[in-house]
Amino acid sequence: MTDTTTTVALAAGIEVPQSFIAEHIEMYKAYHRAPELSSEEHRTAESIEARLTELGIEHFRSGGTGVVGLLTNGEGPTVGFRADTDGLPIAEATGLDYASTATGILPDGSEAPTMHGCGHDTHITTALAAAAYLTANRDAWHGTIVLLFQPGEETAWGAKAMVDDGLWDRAPRPEVVLAQHVMPAKAGTFSLRAGNMASLADSWRITVRGRQAHGSQPEMSLDPIVAAASMVLRLQTIVSRELAPITPAVVTVGTFHAGLKENIIPETAEFSVNVRTPDEDVRAHVLGSIRRIVAAEAAASGIDEPAIVEINRFPRLFNDAEHTARATAALQAGFGSESVIAAPLGMGSEDAGWLGDAIGVPVVFWSFGAFPAKAFADGSSPAGNHSPHFAPNAELAVVNGTGAALAVLLEYLGK
Ligand code: ZN
Ligand code: ZN
Repeated sequence: MTDTTTTVALAAGIEVPQSFIAEHIEMYKAYHRAPELSSEEHRTAESIEARLTELGIEHFRSGGTGVVGLLTNGEGPTVGFRADTDGLPIAEATGLDYASTATGILPDGSEAPTMHGCGHDTHITTALAAAAYLTANRDAWHGTIVLLFQPGEETAWGAKAMVDDGLWDRAPRPEVVLAQHVMPAKAGTFSLRAGNMASLADSWRITVRGRQAHGSQPEMSLDPIVAAASMVLRLQTIVSRELAPITPAVVTVGTFHAGLKENIIPETAEFSVNVRTPDEDVRAHVLGSIRRIVAAEAAASGIDEPAIVEINRFPRLFNDAEHTARATAALQAGFGSESVIAAPLGMGSEDAGWLGDAIGVPVVFWSFGAFPAKAFADGSSPAGNHSPHFAPNAELAVVNGTGAALAVLLEYLGK
């Protein structure tokens, strides 16, 4: 139902007509139905460009499927605002009437169902909604907003691709880069912390090459399975025996593949390792230990040093203390003093930080809730990001995501 005479508060002092909410819920549902995989966000990018054009906002491409909008309103500060745009290879199981039935092509050429299972559709929609509000309320603010619609977050590819493509040669240098992420939390609550907001993450593929032989003739082989199995077990001692108990780190071996038949000792075994660390020092230690253990176990088995290939690397996501305090105050003013929760250090990862770090500009990243309070009744909690059941409430996501974006943007740009 659309009633243009009724207004809704997105946050304290930020009112929009009910029709604004209805329009953006429809936009959200359209993005939700049509997720595209990382670095394949072609139709998504075109749709964002079309909307920016409609709003009269100048824009350009950066990093292939990245879109940068330059929303200007006279003299004033310049602020960057990031929204990531990619979906995930997940078969959606929410049962929503706007659930995705789309598919995409994975890097290996295979087809996969796609879902906005991390809620990046809420980020696109709320960034466009904030842009629409600011376009319609030019007397409320001044300055420039660099709208950063970033592809490829889930593969740690997009922020770097945009920077490498000359993003900051074409867009004005902001005083801060802001970013937000939907989480399975109550609508009207926000979470952030100064310092590291997420973990650094590294993924490697390790190929152990031995010598193939008949299963009955181990003396003719150099068995890569036994060597790789020893590596996998020994890698478990990095966190448990080399790091202090209070240091948060993870070393996960997520894939292990070797052999085709039980009576053949294969030539190779391949496994991949995913590493989460809280800072650059721990990262350097853990990655160095992996190299040392892999090389030493190979030597113990009398085989060549295995090849290690980087799959991806997430940089730090570091919230600047001064700007975090400013964003916190803006969210508290917009949503109440109880609305902001101090975030623990998460072991997730995010490449948004690189959009600022690459040019020495501070970054603030916060998460926002978009679920009704009843979803948390009796100690239960809704399915989280990357679950096939992840289903933010469309209206709560639009209202709270847009409200948070505007509350913090206007803290910098408001008159
Ligand atoms: Zn994600
Ligand atoms: Zn995400």
